[in-house]
Amino acid sequence: MSETRDHKTAVLIVGGGIVGLSAALLLARQGIQPVLVERHPSTALLPQARAFNPRSMEIYQALGLEREIRARASILADLPEMIGAETLTGEERFRFDVLARVRPLASVSPTDWAMIDQDELEHVVRAHAERSGADVRFGTELVSFDAGAGGVTTLLRDVGSGAEYRIDADYLIAADGHRAGLRHQLGIGADGPGVLFPVMNFIFDADLSTALRGRRFLLAYLDRPTTGTALVPLRQFGRWALGVPYHSERGESPDDFTDQRCAELAREAVGIPDLELTLVPPMPGRDQKAASTRIGGWVARRYRAGRVFFVGDAAHVVPPTGSYGANTGIADAHNLAWKLAAVIRGRQSTRCWTPTTTSAARSRGQHSTPRCGS
Ligand SMILES: Cc1cc2nc3c(=O)[nH]c(=O)nc-3n(C[C@H](O)[C@H](O)[C@H](O)COP(=O)(O)OP(=O)(O)OC[C@H]3O[C@@H](n4cnc5c(N)ncnc54)[C@H](O)[C@@H]3O)c2cc1C
Repeated sequence: MSETRDHKTAVLIVGGGIVGLSAALLLARQGIQPVLVERHPSTALLPQARAFNPRSMEIYQALGLEREIRARASILADLPEMIGAETLTGEERFRFDVLARVRPLASVSPTDWAMIDQDELEHVVRAHAERSGADVRFGTELVSFDAGAGGVTTLLRDVGSGAEYRIDADYLIAADGHRAGLRHQLGIGADGPGVLFPVMNFIFDADLSTALRGRRFLLAYLDRPTTGTALVPLRQFGRWALGVPYHSERGESPDDFTDQRCAELAREAVGIPDLELTLVPPMPGRDQKAASTRIGGWVARRYRAGRVFFVGDAAHVVPPTGSYGANTGIADAHNLAWKLAAVIRGRQSTRCWTPTTTSAARSRGQHSTPRCGS
């Protein structure tokens, strides 16, 4: 075991998705410099969430990120429409603006929805977290932890070198996603309908202009190859993500999704049997093309076990409809960060100064850190 990076921190965050990164930024802006570990080498590579609601944007606006986020809006920000059809080639059964009925009144929020791909948003939030003093370590995984009354001892591993080291934390934030490894290790279950159906996701490059007939959309729900199939255009022209539900109760498993089967499923969804396409690995440098995820709903029985807190998908999972997944997680991070910061600073929250960053300073990326008065 390497002892080179052993040390102590007030808060260790496990998971560098949008929720963990937001928690890191929010804590750093309050003068707490957390350590964040994420096993993947980089932020998300797929858009996942694309619609960030006014509450999330209020939080990012207060952090001075709104202009940057809106500048990196999705290529489809002007067209937040979903369509439904049997195949992409087939006749559209419905088309609607997903934001038409949920735009806030100017009297209730100073901001609005932002249509930005989640991977783009993660880049923005990570950069600001690091600039604000968070110690963000991608390619680092939590191997084990031991949470006691006085703190949490963790064993971390540098994924590239295999070197292991310890960090002791006063508090641990588990932002480790829907598989919720830390929550399960602590024996905390969840309530709700559970997994509704599993989905295989993969990316492909293809010229779909014949099937599109000049149309654009944010997401297409298709009935082929199976009801609930979702086709999503990606930023790179001619690149698509396809999510296909599969039936584990009928014995189907992720291993069945060979490259050849994925190509056949994409052709069936588009409705062109001889469509030329190329599968693209979602992780550069890896051969694996398809990855499974679970659509479902559950809420953890507790959001806390002593000094360990669960946020984001680790605490609650909802189906993608309504765009509540990432958005509720960002709200968790905001709610937890100011409370933890107040406790760490010695319960002086009522005497803390609020940030007084001017808009000119914000546009230069400078922010004041809240300080506690004497
Ligand atoms: C295809 C798709 C479409 C979606 N569409 C929407 C949408 O439209 N709107 C919406 O709001 N939500 C949507 N979601 C859901 C949204 O993406 C999630 O709610 C959100 O990513 C949850 O963020 P998180 O940070 O809690 O977890 P995650 O993004 O899952 O991040 C958790 C991270 O923890 C890391 N990790 C886990 N264990 C360890 C460990 N031991 N050590 C180090 N790192 C670890 C993982 O590698 C992972 O990167 C969608 C999801 C998918 C898959």
